[in-house]
Amino acid sequence: MKKLEQLYEGKAKKVFATDVENVCIVDYKDDATAFNGLKKGSIAGKGVVNNRMSNFLFKLLEAKGVPTHFVEEISDRETAVKKVEIVPLEVIIRNIAAGSFSKRYGVEEGTDLAVPTIEFSYKNDDLGDPLINDYHALALKLATWEEIDTIKKYAFKVNEVLKEYFDKIGVILVDFKLEFGRDRSNGGKIILADEISPDTCRLWDAVTKEKLDKDRFRRDLGNVEDAYNEMFARLGLDK
Ligand code: UDP
Repeated sequence: MKKLEQLYEGKAKKVFATDVENVCIVDYKDDATAFNGLKKGSIAGKGVVNNRMSNFLFKLLEAKGVPTHFVEEISDRETAVKKVEIVPLEVIIRNIAAGSFSKRYGVEEGTDLAVPTIEFSYKNDDLGDPLINDYHALALKLATWEEIDTIKKYAFKVNEVLKEYFDKIGVILVDFKLEFGRDRSNGGKIILADEISPDTCRLWDAVTKEKLDKDRFRRDLGNVEDAYNEMFARLGLDK
């Protein structure tokens, strides 16, 4: 597969065209941003961790029946993925209260939730990705009911698969963000896209409750690289 011209540069990834129809190459950067781009920095080696961790988890999810955009790992930082039209919703699943949920509802971080929850944010940087409900998403034509139903079903399935897997490596899956896309080469079928990494999940050590994710960067907790490398090692990707 040939890597052709750059199509897009985001906060953490670049996307390139390829000579294969409906396939792009994603190239993961070490750049880190938080608070809608207000905080900027770099986390050495993050691109490698996020690329390889995301691919590892997408393969696991595919095996468990969740369709994804994953095609092939090209290098430590590059992956071939199916070209999709991204549904402009950030889909957030929570098992334990943290971050904006704790703040919004006045619940202490670390409080177990009685059931896993789902929420949507409207992917719109100018508006600061506001919280949105499923009726609003339908009213704004961001997705159809059928797509929203499929997204909910897959998101909870991802939670079940990942919770079980992380539990085995001594990691608590607190919450995470997913993005889905429409596979136009396959009738607009909804598939999991974007990434699953310490940038997009809250991951706590099961024993010490130490944070092994991007909160170390957001909250200036130090040892940011160590946290990403620890997740990499726990997944056995350092060997
Ligand atoms: N998240 C993300 N991208 C965003 C917003 C949130 O990946 O633009 C992830 C975040 O890492 C966490 C989960 O979604 O795992 C829930 O984040 P929350 O709503 O608590 O927002 P935050 O406190 O990070 O602003």
